[in-house]
Amino acid sequence: MNIILLGAPGAGKGTQASKISDAYNLPHISTGDIFRENIKNQTPIGLLAKSYTDKGQLVPDEVTCKIVEERLSREDCKNGYMLDGFPRTIAQAEALDKIANIDLVINIDVDFSLLLDRLCGRRVCKDCGESYHVSRLNGETKCARCGGELYQRKDDNPETVQSRLDVYKAQTAPLIDYYTKKGIIFNVVGNTTPEDVFQKVAEKLDAMK
Ligand code: AMP
Repeated sequence: MNIILLGAPGAGKGTQASKISDAYNLPHISTGDIFRENIKNQTPIGLLAKSYTDKGQLVPDEVTCKIVEERLSREDCKNGYMLDGFPRTIAQAEALDKIANIDLVINIDVDFSLLLDRLCGRRVCKDCGESYHVSRLNGETKCARCGGELYQRKDDNPETVQSRLDVYKAQTAPLIDYYTKKGIIFNVVGNTTPEDVFQKVAEKLDAMK
């Protein structure tokens, strides 16, 4: 099954992606993770991406689409995959239509008022990518899942978060309509716990088997 996870920054796409990936054995493809890895390794793509990610803006479609096309052509995607954070513009969705058949778009819908706090308080494991909220860590600095060190993403600060949310509204939210018209969207409310959201997603995925 080829799945897209859609939702605003902080909606819980990464958390659900890791749960779905474990339960359904699908490779988790996060364009944000790919860019962060390239930035860490100071590759040419990383150097270019950094100037956009630092400001909370989108990396140009041409660059992003090329990366995704290459990733989807790999062997591990032959039996399905889960895209997290791609597509983020109509142009990216149209480019994806040319190279892939998407079975389901899971749209995680969260009240905007919750997102700023979720993102600014987020801590992420540098090894496995698991997310936590600082208010529930009680000073813990290691990942409960793998023991990796927790850190705060550079773009999880109030100013950059605001710009990411603005970008989402202007450029990514129109994709909800795009995929609704294609009849492949599944909307799930993401205001509750990750476990509750996953249960609803799993019911949908199991029904599609
Ligand atoms: P994320 O980890 O999904 O929040 O992505 C972090 C940053 O990477 C975003 O704010 C963008 O700068 C960049 N990025 C990730 N995915 C895309 C995409 N599909 N198109 C353009 N830029 C992206």
